[in-house]
Amino acid sequence: MGEFELIQQYFASRSSGVAVVGIGDDGAVLNPVIPGRQQVVCLDTLVAGRHFRESAAAADIGWKSLAVNLSDLAAMGATPEWFQLGLTLPEADESWLSGFAEGLFECAEQFGITLIGGDTTRGPLSITVQAAGSVPAGKALLRIGARAGDDMYVSGVVGAAALALNNPQANQQPLNRPVPRLALGAVLATVATAAVDISDGLLADCGHVLEQSGVGAMVEIERLPLADGISEANIELALAGGDDYELLFTVPPSTDLSGIEIQTGTPLTRIGKITAEIGLGCIRENGAPYNSATTGWQHFSS
Ligand code: ADP
Ligand code: MG
Repeated sequence: MGEFELIQQYFASRSSGVAVVGIGDDGAVLNPVIPGRQQVVCLDTLVAGRHFRESAAAADIGWKSLAVNLSDLAAMGATPEWFQLGLTLPEADESWLSGFAEGLFECAEQFGITLIGGDTTRGPLSITVQAAGSVPAGKALLRIGARAGDDMYVSGVVGAAALALNNPQANQQPLNRPVPRLALGAVLATVATAAVDISDGLLADCGHVLEQSGVGAMVEIERLPLADGISEANIELALAGGDDYELLFTVPPSTDLSGIEIQTGTPLTRIGKITAEIGLGCIRENGAPYNSATTGWQHFSS
């Protein structure tokens, strides 16, 4: 199967919508962004053996390649519009390609995003997706903006993906089929002072918000919404495991988020507070400091 046949069969035939000229020419042609909105663009690469197991199902790889980018759009408060797909494949394996396309487009259809182009080359398996979305002008949800006194929240549960990676008996769904928090991100754009997705791990990504906002935070360990199978014994999976694709965000003190929880169907848990004192600390209910093995009381060195 040649490159052009491959592109046509698995990808071009599934493309529609947003582009004036989509797949098939040297580049895609897009209309200007709607007045009053701004464009948000992101890109993530997944490499076999590093970002997914070599043995992972092709459909799961397809889903995840797009979902991790959609999670970045969610963390920016953006509504998805289009994506490009850079595929490096060792060979044109038709059963792998049809599985990959199935998972990829299942995700694309679920979250309303259209493939407008890409590139296909031969080499060790790696997948790059570039995704774009839009936000009302000036309303992108940034890492900068958290203020001392803000409440800090996380969506969903934490630690599920790292548990799956470490334990093949655990539920693999959170690792293989992460669900980007797009509905939540879009709503938070008008409420949150800062946000990030916790793909690198809760404490590490929290550190990014603190660093950019020039503040500190205190995380209350017992408040964390731990995934099933996570307890005190393996809590590091929730703190530093990564791959969770939940949103960590800050809101002005005492903001009531119960309406947003219901509207978006997303559990939201207050896990701590932003402090004027620089640094990321974890504390127990009884007031004792909790020293995380991975990041502890560090000053953004994670
Ligand atoms: P060129 O050689 O001019 O770069 P390509 O042969 O790479 O053109 O691409 C031809 C068309 O197919 C372009 O529209 C490109 O965006 C699209 N394309 C290539 N690979 C993919 C892919 N994996 N998924 C979607 N579109 C692709
Ligand atoms: Mg090309």
